[in-house]
Order: sequence, then C-alpha cells, then structure tokens
Amino acid sequence: MQNFSYHMHTNNLGIFDGQNTPIEMIKRSEEIGFKKIGISNHLAFHPNMPSQSKMFFSDFNKACDIYKSVIEDIRTASLKAKIDVRVGFEVDFFSSYQWRSLFEKIKKEIKADYYIGATHYLRDESENYIMNLYYMKRNPQIKISEKDLTVYLNIYWDNIIESIKSGYFNFIAHLDVCKLFGFCLDKKWDEKKYEVIETLEKYKQPYELNTSGWTKVGEQHPHTWMIEELNKRNVPVIVSDDAHSVIMLAQHFEQAESFLSKMNYKCRYCPEF
Ligand SMILES: [Zn+2]
Ligand SMILES: [Zn+2]
Repeated sequence: MQNFSYHMHTNNLGIFDGQNTPIEMIKRSEEIGFKKIGISNHLAFHPNMPSQSKMFFSDFNKACDIYKSVIEDIRTASLKAKIDVRVGFEVDFFSSYQWRSLFEKIKKEIKADYYIGATHYLRDESENYIMNLYYMKRNPQIKISEKDLTVYLNIYWDNIIESIKSGYFNFIAHLDVCKLFGFCLDKKWDEKKYEVIETLEKYKQPYELNTSGWTKVGEQHPHTWMIEELNKRNVPVIVSDDAHSVIMLAQHFEQAESFLSKMNYKCRYCPEF
C-alpha cells in the first residue's frame, strides 16, 4: 500500500476545510504507518473572489499573511513528528495573466514546499463571475441558465488543461470533481476529458487517483476509463485520500492498490520534495 499521502486538509482555514489540527493529522498518519505526508489546505485567491467563505480571499496581502501563518503553524506542529511532513496547498488555478502574476508573487512570499492544481469553480471567460461548486450546492437558490452552464463547464475543462500546461503544480487533483455535482456525466463531454488526458501525457504531468469519490459517489476520481487511458500513455499517478479529517486518512487505499494492480498501472508518482 502507498505509505504516504500529499493531499490532506487541517482546520487552519476553518472547519469547512479540515476538522482536525495539524498535530492530530500528523499523529494519526504515524499510527496508520505513513512514512511521509504533505498537508495541503486550500489556496483560493482571486481579486474577483466573492466573499463566500473565510477560506476564499480577494485581498492579496491578507491572503499572504494567512497562508504564511498556516505554514508556520504546520511547520511548528511537525517539529515533534516522527515522520517527514511537507507543507503545500491545493491551489485553485485561474488561467488569466492577472491571476498567474499574483499567484507567482504569492509563491515567492509564502514559499510552500509544493502545490496541487485544482479547479473547484465555475466561471466566465473574463473571470468576473466566479462560483464555487460546493457553495453552489449548499445554496440551491443559486440558478444558472442552461446556456451559461454549458459555457462555464467548457471553461471548467479548459481551466484544468491550462493548469496542466502552466507547470506550476506537482500533481493535478480530482480531474472530474464536477461529477459530485452531477455535471459532465454525458458522453458529449468525453471529448474534453480526452483533451485533458492528452495534455497530461504531453506535459508528463502527474495526476491523482482521489479515493474520496468512492465514499461520495461510488467511484474514484477520475473515471475508470480515464485512468485506463492515462495508463496507456504512461502518465504518473499518485493515490490521495483528500482527508478532511483523521477518519479519512488512508481511506480506500487498499481498494486503490488492488484497482491499480488489476489494471497493471505502470507509472506511479513518488514525490521527492
Ligand atoms: Zn479539492
Ligand atoms: Zn482537497
């Protein structure tokens, strides 16, 4: 079984992100036999970010200060750890030049050990309208017309493609997380999914098999057929539990191992940062 996990959350940004402290996550990781871990809270920053939660930021200085204090808290907690602990972020990527230049500044300021690329937002081309998928699910009064939704979902996939091309990320999280919300299940979206697969191959970009999907929708992220296609193309995979609490650490890891070995998955990603 993979004895490390680089995608987990703590309560440093509030309970919507993680339910446990860094010390609790480290202690439980040691108990279950992980040799190395990476803690990756959300980095969701954009100048046009609506203030839908305490963990989303539109103010650059405030974001940097908070991310720096999160890193410091985790590094302090890791001083007593018996295993290697890295500090990263699960970053909401946006493809505009404006966002990229601000993110590059954030990286210089905060100096985290690694970054996971993610897309949890529906948005328009201009990045003026930004809607978090989870926030949308919790607030059913938010309605988007069918026409706008198709536009936003196309941008969702293009955003993932651009995140792969950016070269910012150690690996890309839950490629088809939109299925949690019932989006893009129709065959007509396969073309976009193939475009993601081909871009991952071209850029030799590792991606994750996220086991939390098994609990939420009965299927891991991404779809089985996508993992088969990625295996044919020798794209490195890392197994992630995406743990938001101690209970979720290493959840379904054995299932993931037997899934990958049945498929004869060839290329595994073992981080070396
Ligand atoms: Zn995520
Ligand atoms: Zn996550």
